[in-house]
Amino acid sequence: MRNWRRLLRISNRSFLAFIFFFSLSTSCLYFIYVAPGIANTYFFMVQAQGMMLRDNVRTISHMIRLYTNKNSSINGTDYPDGNNSSEFIAQPTTYLPENFTYALNLPCPEKLPSMKGQADVNMTEMPMEDIYLQFSKYTDVRNAGHWKPGDCKPRWKVAILIPFRNRHEHLPILLRHLIPMLQRQHLQFGFYIIEQTGTQPFNRAMLFNVGFKEAMKDLDWDCFIFHDVDHIPENDRNYYGCGQMPRHFAAKLDKYMYILPYAEFFGGVSGLTMDQFRKINGFPNAFWGWGGEDDDLWNRVHYAGFNVTRPDGDIGKYKSIPHHHRGEVQFLGRYKLLRYSKERQYLDGLNNLKYTPKITMSRLYKNISVNLSPELAPVADY
Ligand code: UDP
Ligand code: BGC
Ligand code: MN
Repeated sequence: MRNWRRLLRISNRSFLAFIFFFSLSTSCLYFIYVAPGIANTYFFMVQAQGMMLRDNVRTISHMIRLYTNKNSSINGTDYPDGNNSSEFIAQPTTYLPENFTYALNLPCPEKLPSMKGQADVNMTEMPMEDIYLQFSKYTDVRNAGHWKPGDCKPRWKVAILIPFRNRHEHLPILLRHLIPMLQRQHLQFGFYIIEQTGTQPFNRAMLFNVGFKEAMKDLDWDCFIFHDVDHIPENDRNYYGCGQMPRHFAAKLDKYMYILPYAEFFGGVSGLTMDQFRKINGFPNAFWGWGGEDDDLWNRVHYAGFNVTRPDGDIGKYKSIPHHHRGEVQFLGRYKLLRYSKERQYLDGLNNLKYTPKITMSRLYKNISVNLSPELAPVADY
């Protein structure tokens, strides 16, 4: 060994340094592979901190410029330069007054007095039974979580689809926040938990496709919300109806310091009308493991000629339920699939998916269990 090092003229110290950096970088790569969600959170946090620092420096230098320039004065329209300046503009508050009267034959408005804005988020774990008791006592949420307002015609019939595997403590927390929020928004709604069984890597996108097909057997839902179980909306003005364009609701996540990580980010919570989702051929089925399926949905939406809208300002804020689950491993094949989004769009999606669901009714949701595997969505090579 010593001869070998002498031959290469490496000193003991540089040899040790080499071993140290080699093991450090392999451990980092291994961590990124097995815990991609956490690694991404760190990455986007550092990025967000950089952006905030840059904004602060800009604001300070702008203030200094204003002070040193005798002709300028600080007034309400003098915002710092930069992309984020729209954030400072006050949101319109055209919400209806408290004394607004509903009419049974008229559509429920979108900006209701019951929608107060920023609300408290409570992350305490609770048994599902308590959540059920809480809502069955005061409201008419029964029949697997279906509900509709009794004082006006709901503007949207919304199916909330939640992909699920082994996150039992998250579900009561999510429902505890969503049910009252959707009631305050006067939307008709129902919950679908689509649970993956079997040993394959998690496939969030395929679960959404299954959920869509199953929900359509129940009712002519016209709006679908694709909702991670660990994302809790912070603002009840984040209206869970659909629109002319697909919508990305989860624009500002606490785990990314409330900054959109990148312009094409479409993860967490998104919503499409039934027609929009059919038109784009649903989600891709080929993303096994963590990452990429939401980016592919973004591509599909744009290739089909849509744009994506997001809630204004702080309305799109979400808190993530902290958890210590062993995450899914990275889906390394996603980069290649994403390069061929366009070619794959009508080969893989709603149209090539077969599955056998096991359905159980819970009091607040319908549970659809499926054992997923790649053979359920065959796709010819392209
Ligand atoms: N999910 C799940 N069990 C898993 C992995 C994912 O239920 O083992 C669902 C759950 O709804 C979760 C979503 O898929 O919120 C996204 O996965 P994850 O939270 O692991 O992704 P990240 O937030 O780290 O991007
Ligand atoms: C992944 C997405 C994920 C996003 C934010 C991207 O690199 O491809 O699936 O939602 O990071 O974590
Ligand atoms: Mn998550």
